[in-house]
Amino acid sequence: MKLQTLKSTLYLAAFVCLAAPAQAGWVRRVNDGIMGTRITVELWADDETKADPAIDAVLDEMRHIDDSMSTYKPTSEVSLVNAKAADGPMRISKELFDLLTTAKEYSVLTDGAFDITYASVGYMYDFRKHVHPDEAQIDKALPAVNFRHVLLDPKNQTVQFSKKGVRIDLGGIAKGYSVDRGIEILKARGFTRAYVSAGGDSRIIGDRFGKPWMVGIRDPRKGAGEVITRIPLADAAISTSGDYERYFEENGVRYHHIIDPRTGHSASKVRSATIIGPYATRTDGLSKTAFVLGPEKAMEIYNRIDDIDAIIVKLDGTVIYSKGIEPAPGTAPAK
Ligand code: ADP
Ligand code: MG
Repeated sequence: MKLQTLKSTLYLAAFVCLAAPAQAGWVRRVNDGIMGTRITVELWADDETKADPAIDAVLDEMRHIDDSMSTYKPTSEVSLVNAKAADGPMRISKELFDLLTTAKEYSVLTDGAFDITYASVGYMYDFRKHVHPDEAQIDKALPAVNFRHVLLDPKNQTVQFSKKGVRIDLGGIAKGYSVDRGIEILKARGFTRAYVSAGGDSRIIGDRFGKPWMVGIRDPRKGAGEVITRIPLADAAISTSGDYERYFEENGVRYHHIIDPRTGHSASKVRSATIIGPYATRTDGLSKTAFVLGPEKAMEIYNRIDDIDAIIVKLDGTVIYSKGIEPAPGTAPAK
């Protein structure tokens, strides 16, 4: 290129940059198909051209988590663990090791209501195909359900099952974890206002310029758009578990996707539970407890944990709140 042409090209480039300053704005993308759920990413970008690559990176990370943790994928790391960990200690990735360690902490925190070994029985349910195990199958598999069967060795980064028949499934924590990873990716790229959700698990950083995000809590017995209340949130995570998410009914029994580790049956002691806290991994891990332990015992546990709040819709449709967010008398949105 001749010097003169190069110069004019540079002038032109400079002119274009001046003429088209970075556009700022909210950018939102919805994706269906990763982890079998709907992913939403919304963020404020000072320069909109930076939004798409950032959202791509979030979705790539979620695909990676799905590939390594899904029990639907026979080649995932979790599927390999389920196939081999009863034979002896198995070295696993740091990421999976850390999440298994966190899962165990939540089992202790919830008196065993959250237990990833629920899958030792849970794998026999197929809610889409309306399949459930019979009593004899449950009785046979139930002894394998116990988080204490998952032996973790931090020194060697290994996992081992102390018993044959143990299976794990991270479906009750992996979406929350993927939301936290998504938020970390956005933070690392300099975003300070964003919302990431995967199914019932969401996390928010920042606010909407002085206003909070309003997150609706769905009415468990009404359509997807109907909410029991809206919670103003900034810099927080929120997870809702509901008995309406994945279920079928047979002979008057509602079979749905949260399993009581003590009985191997669907845990049906509430209609929905919403947890608000600092991380989506945590709120996801804790939202199943109310189904297993019932509203009173679960609320006792939720109130004991400093950094979370809870909203439970009981079987009769009434709503109860943890101490931190109890509405003032007379203002309760409960019905
Ligand atoms: P979503 O999958 O929509 O995020 P939840 O957060 O309520 O819904 O999680 C439900 C999932 O949790 C189930 O599909 C299953 O994979 C897993 N799960 C079911 N029972 C238990 C349990 N007792 N402990 C831990 N995980 C569970
Ligand atoms: Mg969840």
